[in-house]
Amino acid sequence: MRISVVTIFPEMFDALKCCGVFRRALESGIIDFMVFNLRDFTDDRHHVVDDYPFGGGPGMVMKVEPFYNFMDWYKSKFSSNPFVILTTPQGKRFNSDVARQLAEKEELVFLCGRYEGVDERVVNMVDEELSIGDYVLSGGELAAMVMIEALSRFVPGVLGDEDSSRDSFYNELLDHSHYTRPREFRGMKVPDVLLKGDHEKIRLFRHMERIKRTILRRPDLFLKRDLNLEDKKAIIQLVRLLAEGKKVEEME
Ligand code: SAM
Repeated sequence: MRISVVTIFPEMFDALKCCGVFRRALESGIIDFMVFNLRDFTDDRHHVVDDYPFGGGPGMVMKVEPFYNFMDWYKSKFSSNPFVILTTPQGKRFNSDVARQLAEKEELVFLCGRYEGVDERVVNMVDEELSIGDYVLSGGELAAMVMIEALSRFVPGVLGDEDSSRDSFYNELLDHSHYTRPREFRGMKVPDVLLKGDHEKIRLFRHMERIKRTILRRPDLFLKRDLNLEDKKAIIQLVRLLAEGKKVEEME
């Protein structure tokens, strides 16, 4: 998969490239990631990317020409049909489902705004306007990084399939708890069931935790889920424990 970004602050993306899962995806060649400086696509000597707003008002607006120049150049060089995303607080809300859909595209281009945003005519050349939440950032770079990190986890080969399917939000459930050594720390114990090696029970325990957490923390998600047999067994077990006055961690 190829992911490209155009921004006036390309150096911000060093933070994304440097580390962890995304860095490994780049090194293994699963993701081809390129960052372009919008100023390289200006027509004037001073590489100006912003101008005063027509109609007056505070702040500056990002000019339309550099974005079109960039896309013309990009399409001539790489592909005639990338999926183009404009980062904007006014866009559709990015979430795990959107991340998974984007991960299926072969080629993505993210446009990062700054100042008061981009000239409205830029919108005519984008496929989707996306927001990472109901707040305003000073630029689209962090938003693009959030989206790129999240979607790359769904690109085949970046994580194991099983790993990505166990994460929160996959199939409308939150993830279960996680523990590592020591078995006891300051009186806090790892649940017994995780220490006994009964994989069937561990699977049930973890599924009960997913269900319980989702119901308590995100009932909106749980209501969207079509219950399967595994869910029903976990719910039966949860109700039994509840009736005995026990917690999930006390499952034997
Ligand atoms: N005047 C714009 C508005 O109120 O809708 C906000 C412009 S903002 C200061 C500058 C740029 O930051 C935007 O063009 C966009 O690229 C990016 N941005 C800000 N908040 C964002 C968000 N929640 N999601 C995605 N991008 C965002």
